[in-house]
Amino acid sequence: MLGEGILRGLAETARNFVGSFVSADRLTTVQYPEERIAPIEATRDFPFLVYDGGDWEAGMRCVACQICEKECPPKCIYIVKSKDKKPDYKGQLQLYPLTFDIDISVCMSCQICVEVCPFESIKMDTKFELSTADRFGGLLLTKDKLAKSNAYYQKLHPHDAADSDAVIAGEKAKAEAKAKAAAEAKAKADAEAKAKAAAATATAPLAPPTPTTPPPATGK
Ligand code: SF4
Ligand code: SF4
Repeated sequence: MLGEGILRGLAETARNFVGSFVSADRLTTVQYPEERIAPIEATRDFPFLVYDGGDWEAGMRCVACQICEKECPPKCIYIVKSKDKKPDYKGQLQLYPLTFDIDISVCMSCQICVEVCPFESIKMDTKFELSTADRFGGLLLTKDKLAKSNAYYQKLHPHDAADSDAVIAGEKAKAEAKAKAAAEAKAKADAEAKAKAAAATATAPLAPPTPTTPPPATGK
């Protein structure tokens, strides 16, 4: 029948409209801000920097490689590298960001910085109540404001965080295995060098006896 689909759609709308007054399951809205719906896992707005452990400065994963800064389309990331180095999660000495700022008034939440980061360091937040009257300072997120723990990341995006943890654990295990193999190879080479030196000493010919000086002739 012509228009049957429209009538069915209107009936469904009417059913939900009336039903929303009597059934909580049919309510599609909540009384925000008193009531809040938890964001779904795929939600994203602006980036944050992940750190491991309890100290955000010591545990920050970022090594200031600046890939995200270069790839960010609107250029809203600003990084200054350190002069010294600190060990990363693999125990390898790395630089770290002295300054890491993101201007979220410019950020377009594209997540490209997350995709290009080789260190599982920058991830997307879901915090959206960020409006402020301070157009400049209030929307410029510095390193201390960007730093969030891995536990926070695990809570926001459990599946992605588990994947990141697996990547980091794999990298760490690979680095440890490499270090162990290098140490074993060095110990073996040292032992072989020692054995060679000992064998050379044992087979070396004895030195000829030193001739004794004859006593001076007495004149008669
Ligand atoms: S989400 Fe996109 S725009 Fe925002 S900082 Fe990352 S790369 Fe730049
Ligand atoms: S967040 Fe990642 S890509 Fe950006 S500088 Fe740090 S380590 Fe490099």
